[in-house]
Amino acid sequence: MKKSYIVFFDFDNTITKFDILDDMLLRFSKDDNWIELEEKWKRWKIGSRECLEGQMAGIRITRKDLDRYLSKIKLDPYFKKLIELFKSKKIKSIILSDDFDYILMRVLRNNNIPNVETYSNKVKIVKDRLIPSFPYINKDHRKCGHCKKINLLANKGRGLTTVYVGDGLSDLCPAIEAEIVFAKGPLQEYLKKERLGYIPIKGLKDVYNYFKYLS
Ligand SMILES: [Mg+2]
Repeated sequence: MKKSYIVFFDFDNTITKFDILDDMLLRFSKDDNWIELEEKWKRWKIGSRECLEGQMAGIRITRKDLDRYLSKIKLDPYFKKLIELFKSKKIKSIILSDDFDYILMRVLRNNNIPNVETYSNKVKIVKDRLIPSFPYINKDHRKCGHCKKINLLANKGRGLTTVYVGDGLSDLCPAIEAEIVFAKGPLQEYLKKERLGYIPIKGLKDVYNYFKYLS
């Protein structure tokens, strides 16, 4: 029987060319508290939820300015090509992100990406504040914002080869559950250190070429 796949993508710095949240923190934070939170998270002192809650509390931006900022964000051009290729091969793809629903929705829509199933944290915009909420917390492990592993396991489907494409710390848990991992950045370093298998990538072009030549 022909092999079929389900492909999970991280969003920031995997589909986008840089990390939108990191960039927003630099541009729109009212003070430097986010830097310490980021350092603590990278050293596993705090979970991503506590980190994101603290960092979002320091951002000041109105919906109008946020929309203007998000309208300038471009994706890796191979994401759209991949989505079209997957459609022709009947391969399902899902985005798992530790970013926020409003940001993902705007950026995908601005870049003419048709409905891709996405799971992320949520945000409400109230005047110039961004109020986060975390619908996908793992109840047994409450430190993370979005437990990508739970949503990967819930969607991977029987008989499908599970593929994960990512770059960061929050991609490690879901990547471990996947059969094929395309990795760059810190994710690649972690997998290397843990002696886990992965395919190194520079960008989505490498993922595209892999699937393009599959029969
Ligand atoms: Mg990322």
